Amino acid sequence: MTSRIYYTDPSCVMFEAVVSRTLVHDDRPAAVLDRTAFYPTSGGQPFDTGRLGNVNVVDVVDLGDEVIHLLSAPLAVGDRVVGEVEWTRRLDHMQQHTGQHILSAAFASRFDNATVSFHMGTDVSTIDLAKPAGADEIAVAVRDANQIVWENRAVSIRFVSEDEATRLPLRKEPSRGGQLRLIEIDGYDVSACGGTHVARTGAIGMIAVIGAEKLRGGTRLTFVCGGRALQSLEMYRDAVTGCVRTLSVLPSELPSAVERLQSEARDLRKSAGRLQEQLAVFEAERLVGGADIVGSARLVTSAMDGWDTVGLKALAAAAARHEGVLAILTSSAPPVAIVIARGTGVSVDAGRLLKALTDKFGGRGGGKPELAQGGGLNAAPVDILNAARDLVAVLVSPAP
Ligand SMILES: [Zn+2]
Repeated sequence: MTSRIYYTDPSCVMFEAVVSRTLVHDDRPAAVLDRTAFYPTSGGQPFDTGRLGNVNVVDVVDLGDEVIHLLSAPLAVGDRVVGEVEWTRRLDHMQQHTGQHILSAAFASRFDNATVSFHMGTDVSTIDLAKPAGADEIAVAVRDANQIVWENRAVSIRFVSEDEATRLPLRKEPSRGGQLRLIEIDGYDVSACGGTHVARTGAIGMIAVIGAEKLRGGTRLTFVCGGRALQSLEMYRDAVTGCVRTLSVLPSELPSAVERLQSEARDLRKSAGRLQEQLAVFEAERLVGGADIVGSARLVTSAMDGWDTVGLKALAAAAARHEGVLAILTSSAPPVAIVIARGTGVSVDAGRLLKALTDKFGGRGGGKPELAQGGGLNAAPVDILNAARDLVAVLVSPAP
């Protein structure tokens, strides 16, 4: 049975203990101590890290009666060790966890919206609310919660029997019986919880909801507290500053500025497409004029700089309007886009020719005997076009 120091003294980060049992857990050396300040993963809160003497604690597992410390090197039964919990990580967990109690209490008291689950991630945490919560409700609850933080209320721990608990205004039904550990935020919230919490709400600093999504008839809120709130503010500041500088608008004007850019880009793509189609007619004349005669076909092969796939297709189709023309056009750099089109009087199957090329150079694509297109071919365009010319020479040459 491990005595859990963090149950009564969550600010204890240094303690002395004796190794009472050693074992191998998840292929790692592990130790059980007579007492520990290390918090094991449970109740949505991750484990503490730190050291036992010269050995690193890399994970902490709750086995009910015992807390198992997974170690970087083995310890021996009877070893007397000084344990040291990594405080930065612990304080972060305490900020997120106590912040969660307050945020959940705010939704429960203001909107009768219960929290059904809590998860603390490495960057952000989530609570799942039983009922939907709109942006206005979230804003109100977050303001309430931060008010409680700024009032720097005491957060106290006490142990009560199951019987006593029934007479107390617990926010939610305890999930276990027997003696209960209650966390009370003075005058605001009482919850049964085994986690670690700050001593006064001011240590949470700030509670910020940074995302909300509908989930199974309720709402999943993503939130950050304390140091994480500062980090996310810095992240948003850097992102917004970068956009504001590039777009020369005020931060509040960013959404409409991005919308305008997207709409302009759509118009430009449309007009570029129309121009390419018109240009394709003239460019196709030039290409057909320089065609190579291979067997019975007039072979047009070219790597086209500045033409997208739609343009290449228009160009190949325009070239193939000429009798006897087989047009094989690619983009100018890998990964290569390719379009193959044949005019009347050409027997080469464009789809098969493309398949032979993708077999050789990778990428994908397909089409009919008259027109085929592909992309992602991984070679220099000149090599692909040379291989295509060799294949065509074999296909159109009369049988000996
Ligand atoms: Zn808690």
